[in-house]
Amino acid sequence: MKDCFGREIDYLRISITDRCNLRCRYCMPDGMSGKVCHEDVLRYEEFLRIVRAASRLGIRHLKVTGGEPLVRRGCSAFIGALKAVEGIQTVTLTTNGLLLRENLDALVQAGVDGINVSLDTTDPQQYRLITGDSGTGGVEEVSAAVFAAAERGIRVKVNAVTMPGTDVLSLISYAREHPVDVRFIEMMPIGYGRLFPDSDNRRLLARLAEVFPDMEPESEAALELLLEAVGRKRAFSFAERHSQERITKKHGEGPAVYFRIPGYQGSVGFISAVHGKFCSSCNRIRLTSTGFLKTCLCYDQGADLRAVLREMTPDGGPSPEADGRGQAGRTLGCAEPDRDLRLEEVMRAAILNKPAAHCFETPDQMTEHHEMSQIGG
Ligand code: SAM
Ligand code: SF4
Repeated sequence: MKDCFGREIDYLRISITDRCNLRCRYCMPDGMSGKVCHEDVLRYEEFLRIVRAASRLGIRHLKVTGGEPLVRRGCSAFIGALKAVEGIQTVTLTTNGLLLRENLDALVQAGVDGINVSLDTTDPQQYRLITGDSGTGGVEEVSAAVFAAAERGIRVKVNAVTMPGTDVLSLISYAREHPVDVRFIEMMPIGYGRLFPDSDNRRLLARLAEVFPDMEPESEAALELLLEAVGRKRAFSFAERHSQERITKKHGEGPAVYFRIPGYQGSVGFISAVHGKFCSSCNRIRLTSTGFLKTCLCYDQGADLRAVLREMTPDGGPSPEADGRGQAGRTLGCAEPDRDLRLEEVMRAAILNKPAAHCFETPDQMTEHHEMSQIGG
């Protein structure tokens, strides 16, 4: 469906847990244990019910996220169940990769359409510093998982959140050796991300353009970013070398802009969430592990779908007797089709009211105070 600004909303990110086996400094350095009770987290069948309603409203693409989604038992089977929902076209996963290899068979069997692996550095010592990982083989394990997934024919992307010292050149080596896109994401001032200095993709791109003067922008938007990074004259010298056909190539559905480096199997992407405001073409909404439908990263605006799922009376209204643990709706035996209709209605209203744009540039206007691990990225 379209929101009130005419944007087609067809992409839903679903955070299935707020727990994680890492403690990334910008995400959840102190851990989350104890903050969300087990019973407050939606059961898989509750997520599926929401997804069926979302599909009726036009959601076509799903991303399973977290916390770390692979720490929740049954994640692969859940992906299989999502794939079977009528109207859903793609189901992808984002993971820190530590448990990916052991889940690969099950994910392939479930029919996962793509996997994003988050990896901010290839240096083992840096990796431990950034992620809080106490083991020794984190980078090796994640790298092995990336390559294993690519070899199984899965569409794999490596996502790196940029911060001071991000080693762009070593990270893009993954794209040289394998058909894997490597993407750089600007740090967003959400949760602990606020404590980090401004990260600007244009600086990274300018560095890359120095090293790879034969780099090709894959789209008008990529050319635009290059223009901002290196100036008009140099940007057009990149563009002139390449045919219009290549420049207008479509690569992915999301906000990333891509560059091709000759000899590399994968592309290099940039997601400029802060400096490249792509809100006018935003197609996404987010569902937290506790069932809150978020319509923009920046604001606490949205709808409490868990309340709809668990606290409804037979006449379709919210139950005054609801105990907050989902018992009321069930014991009152509310009509299930009514509940589905109400779910759809509440979601439709939330989507219609999706904010026009984020306000990262004026953080005091942000009303979202959750950590990224609770939101799902
Ligand atoms: N644990 C999984 C992972 O790391 O991919 C899924 C959840 S994680 C919250 C999803 C994505 O959000 C990761 O790529 C992570 O790097 C990114 N992320 C977390 N905090 C961020 C921030 N402040 N700015 C930009 N990206 C962030
Ligand atoms: Fe865990 Fe992902 Fe957050 Fe890192 S970014 S702490 S891996 S949820």
